[in-house]
Order: sequence, then C-alpha cells, then structure tokens
Amino acid sequence: MTYAFPPADLPRVAIHGSEEWFPVHRIYCVGQNYARHAREMGSDPQREPPFFFCKPADAVVPAAMETSSPVLVPYPTRTSDFHHEIELVVAIGAGGRDINRDEAWSHVFGLATGIDLTRRDLQKIAKDRGLPWDTSKGFDRSAPISPIRRVGDTGCVSSGAIWLDVNGQRRQTGDIAEMTWNVAEIIAELSTLYELKPGDLVFTGTPAGIGAVQRGDVLEGGVDGVAMLAVRIE
Ligand code: MN
Repeated sequence: MTYAFPPADLPRVAIHGSEEWFPVHRIYCVGQNYARHAREMGSDPQREPPFFFCKPADAVVPAAMETSSPVLVPYPTRTSDFHHEIELVVAIGAGGRDINRDEAWSHVFGLATGIDLTRRDLQKIAKDRGLPWDTSKGFDRSAPISPIRRVGDTGCVSSGAIWLDVNGQRRQTGDIAEMTWNVAEIIAELSTLYELKPGDLVFTGTPAGIGAVQRGDVLEGGVDGVAMLAVRIE
C-alpha cells in the first residue's frame, strides 16, 4: 500500500519515567462535571447532567513534567475571550464497549493533567444558536497535557486538589472528589456511546474559576498525586 503523500505523524503524549510514548487515538471531553462550574456557566447541575464532546487527536500539545519549562501555545485566531479549564485526564489502555463501573479502572493506562483551552466567545455563539462546538473547543493546539503517570503509580484517584494559577495567581480550585461523574462512571457512560480504544484520552471536566488569558501569560496547574504542567501563551 502506498499513500498519495506522507501521512501526518501520530499524535502522542509522553509517559512519565519511560522512553515510550502514548499514541493518541481520540480525545473525549466531559462538560459541566463539577456543580460549581456548571453554575458559573449558567446551568442548573440538578437538572442537567454532564455531557460529552470531542477534540481532534492532533489538538494535543505534550508538556513537560517540569513546570520551569512551559510549553508554548499560540493565542488562537478568531477569539478575544480565550479561556483555561484545568482538568484531570484519563488515558485509556484497554478498549471496550458497555464497560461496567466496577471494571472501569482496569481499562485505565494512566492519568495526566490537561488544559481544555476554549474560545469562550465562539462557544457562547454556538450555545445561543444551537450550533456545534467544534470551533470553540476542537481547534489546533487546544489540548496541552502533562506526561501520563501510570495508574500503578497514581492509584485509582478519587480525591485530591485540582488547581490552576495564571502568572502565579490562583484562578481555579477544586477537588477530584467533587466530580459529578467520577472516573469509573465517565468510562462506563462514554463506553455506551463509543467503543473505547487504547490511546483514547478523556478530559474529565473543570472545576470553577475559569477565565480569560492573554499573550505572555503563564498557566501552571496540577492535580495532586497525578502531575503538573505549565503553558505559556504566545
Ligand atoms: Mn472542559
């Protein structure tokens, strides 16, 4: 078999403490998975459950574990309200459909910390007009992510602080225990909609405190017991 032109490189994420790379298959994201964030977005978390959307696999931007060397993300075109959302990311190592909650963690390769970068102004237009979210969520370099820590190192994380600073000022705070759907519930629910595959990444939602960033800002965030990452907006 011969391709008409060289195919794009496979998107990949570093694995902490390893020479191996995690090949990215798809990026799934959970929306409004923390009640305080759902309320700041104008939703009622009692009435509206979390939901899913996607980013293209090649939106990943692999960041270093050392926050002293931030990865660079260009300020995107067509927005003037570019937002950060710090999130726990689940890396799937074993695929499946209709996965039981009780078995969900056996499908997890590892955990990472990521930022779901968002063109908030385009998302608002999409929400108001009932249009797709792709241009507000799935744009180029919209998914910076730390190296993945193997689940054998982190354990099955169900609590721990999640936070994000912009230029050293705390913007987002929460705890993994506050997630409306926990990791096992997300995997179970998602696997009824899609067949999960090794290489899938799942951004599990952001806590309250989202906000805008500007060129030159440094974003530093983490999930305790998992990983930290740093991003500089160019
Ligand atoms: Mn998000």
